[in-house]
Amino acid sequence: MPAKLIDGKALAAATRTKVAQGVAALTSQNRPVKLVAILVGDNPAAKVYAENQARTCAQVAIAYELKQLPATTSTAELHAAIHTLNRDPSVTGIFLHSPLPAGLDLQEAQYQIDILKDVEGVNPANIGHVVYGHTIIAPCTALAVVELIDSTGLDLTGKEVAVVGASRIVGRPLALLLTERNATVTLCHIHTKDTPAHTRTADVVVVAVGKPNLLRADHIKPGAVVNDVGINRVKITDAFGKVTEKTVGDVDFDEVSKVASWITPVPGGVGPMTVAMLLRNTLRAAKLVHGLEKTFSGK
Ligand code: NAD
Repeated sequence: MPAKLIDGKALAAATRTKVAQGVAALTSQNRPVKLVAILVGDNPAAKVYAENQARTCAQVAIAYELKQLPATTSTAELHAAIHTLNRDPSVTGIFLHSPLPAGLDLQEAQYQIDILKDVEGVNPANIGHVVYGHTIIAPCTALAVVELIDSTGLDLTGKEVAVVGASRIVGRPLALLLTERNATVTLCHIHTKDTPAHTRTADVVVVAVGKPNLLRADHIKPGAVVNDVGINRVKITDAFGKVTEKTVGDVDFDEVSKVASWITPVPGGVGPMTVAMLLRNTLRAAKLVHGLEKTFSGK
């Protein structure tokens, strides 16, 4: 039987509705929900991303401001700009666009963001809280994958999960979140000797690598839940020799969807849900900043 689709677009729409309700409740109490994104230099992809971000925030009535800094911005100036936003009570969320121009260190800058306003969950203190099971704000894509798995109704307790790809922003935080949900997680990466040996026995497979067709049908246990985080642009040549571009994930969708029980499409799976999680994190940050929700340590 073909796999059922995990509909990231529909889940994202439902999340946006809930976030919009939460934002409306806060603003009716004169509590602002405002995301400030910092864009250093003029990277065209980051500019497009910022435009999309402004549009998505507008859909749920989150106030959005893009703070553009010149490519010549020094480390001290960038950090000072972040510190100013940290202190500004009207700003409840801070997002730093990447890549940064050469000479600026992304992680060093991310570490400057107030952990309560860190809507991407990239400050190491936030990752540390995930380790201890006291999540304040977790990275958006990792949260998105957990939500997508939950939507299938699968109870993660005791399940074998193979996460392929161990980046700081996706695979590693996801492994922590899934462990917190009582799954047994195997984290595979470029140095894993035999990744398919792990995926073949897994009840849930998540792949976040960036290589088209990395996972094929014989890498997946029949009935497994498959989440494809990868985003790859590939060239397709049609029967008349015309070449077009298409976005695909890391999974051979046509093959794997015949074996899996549930699968995320690309596009339309993890991508829209990641955007929705950024909005949800922004609402959460606002509640923390306004003292309506508390962290484990009571902040
Ligand atoms: P990254 O380059 O930082 O990390 C890739 C990881 O894959 C590394 O841990 C590496 O060791 C591992 N890897 C590489 N080749 C491998 C192989 N053959 N077998 C097993 N592991 C291997 O990547 P990233 O930033 O985590 O992104 C991964 C993919 O996910 C990219 O395609 C990216 O565009 C996509 N992505 C999508 C979203 C979304 O919202 N859908 C969000 C973030 C990233």
